[in-house]
Amino acid sequence: MREDASCNFWTSMLPERPSSRPRLAEDVQADVVIVGAGFTGLWTAYYLKRLAPEREIVVLEAERVGHGASGRNGGWVIGNLAGLERHIGSLPREERRGCCALVADNVDEIGRVLAREQIDADYNKDGAIYAAARYRDQIAIQRGYLRQLHELGHSEADCMWLDARQLEERVRFRDGYGGIYHRQVATVNPGRLVTGLAEVVERLGVTIHEHSRATALGRHEVRTRDGSVEAATIVCATEGYADRFHDFKRHVIPVQSLVIATEPLSQATWEAVGMSERLAFSDASRLINYGHRTADGRIVFGARGNYRFGARPKDDQAISDDAIRMRRDLLVDLLPALEGVRIDYGWGGSLGLSRNFRPHAIFDRASGLATAGGYAGEGVAASHLFGRTLADLILGRDTELVHMPWAFIDASHRQLIKRWEGEPLRWLAAQAITYSYAGEEALMRRDRPAPLIKPAMKRVNDYFASIIE
Ligand SMILES: Cc1cc2nc3c(=O)[nH]c(=O)nc-3n(C[C@H](O)[C@H](O)[C@H](O)COP(=O)(O)OP(=O)(O)OC[C@H]3O[C@@H](n4cnc5c(N)ncnc54)[C@H](O)[C@@H]3O)c2cc1C
Repeated sequence: MREDASCNFWTSMLPERPSSRPRLAEDVQADVVIVGAGFTGLWTAYYLKRLAPEREIVVLEAERVGHGASGRNGGWVIGNLAGLERHIGSLPREERRGCCALVADNVDEIGRVLAREQIDADYNKDGAIYAAARYRDQIAIQRGYLRQLHELGHSEADCMWLDARQLEERVRFRDGYGGIYHRQVATVNPGRLVTGLAEVVERLGVTIHEHSRATALGRHEVRTRDGSVEAATIVCATEGYADRFHDFKRHVIPVQSLVIATEPLSQATWEAVGMSERLAFSDASRLINYGHRTADGRIVFGARGNYRFGARPKDDQAISDDAIRMRRDLLVDLLPALEGVRIDYGWGGSLGLSRNFRPHAIFDRASGLATAGGYAGEGVAASHLFGRTLADLILGRDTELVHMPWAFIDASHRQLIKRWEGEPLRWLAAQAITYSYAGEEALMRRDRPAPLIKPAMKRVNDYFASIIE
């Protein structure tokens, strides 16, 4: 491990950062004020300004642009939504297909917008090994999952099965028994994406204030320590970083997610790993292990999120050496050719988990309050789709997006999203689920028949998954 490895790889790749944008230091008026300069806030600003250039838009960011999850994530741009089944499971088949096609096309649309706006964020679409089976028991489970994806409405061309040989042609996992290949997955450098997008929206005429933490959301007014913005519409785009200034946190809580990046790999190591394309990959662990090959030939790898008692968001990026080592060991277990490879970076952040376990885009015309989030760790692509949706909702456009089951008009987040239970219930539930998932995996790893305990644990964990995934 490199000394001082505890820092964010994406930030280190940015060219010298210009000095901060000015903080809000007076009382101003605008048409729309957006709280949070991550992907959700900035994509909303982008689409609002493109569709209605005359609108005055102000973005308030507590720290710097991309301070939250948008500047720290694993870079997967997924043609899916966490909790999609909950949104569309009961719709007729043709409608479900339409929703899945829209979510899949969102990945291509992001690529088109980045090209049009000349945002160089290393966008690359080589698809993903979506959930590789690494234990024999997982083969049937993953084949069943693929059937569910098709049943839900994902096309067979987008999601397909790779047998062990086909999998090995793409990437050499230890014990790769086969897995799902998802064509509609791209990867990006999220640091470049969020900073590039901020520059684009500024060129379009949006004002961004950094170090301008919203301290109160009033009726058509957002206050900061040194100024305020009066606006007909307020967009709360704080996801896993919702602050004490409002009650969003009772509906969307932060969950920690931790990521590492290797040194650039040699040609010989790449030959041993496979991945001649810049593929994204994940295995079938319910505890989540995922990564991708970066533009400069490293592997960025995330694994094992966790929930902090009291739902505290992770503001600092640093993670402990132990946390880095644990993820390195998981990575080497998955890709044995990486034995001895140095880990150069390790960092963490918070993603937002809604109590409904599905993402939302909401605009309440009566109060003028809009919000989107609850992406549950799949927000890089979703924030683009949901920012676009918020823009259409706010502008009263009758588009396909505003009729999607995750788009809501004339209701508030309080009506639509349940409130999280108090502590210690949340923390205890998170611990129980984590240990139960880990226990099931340990049993599978032993690869011995356990005709009673294995099905029982699977049933329990399927139940947990049906609640939270
Ligand atoms: C380590 C990690 C890995 C991840 N990997 C992936 C991945 O590979 N693929 C994927 O799809 N998703 C991933 N995610 C999730 C994804 O990054 C997020 O869902 C997405 O970036 C959310 O964007 P956002 O703009 O809604 O929120 P954020 O990017 O979190 O932005 C919220 C912003 O609001 C600001 N803010 C908060 N309170 C205030 C206030 N009072 N006043 C002003 N500003 C405020 C914060 O400073 C922050 O900048 C990951 C998340 C993490 C943490």
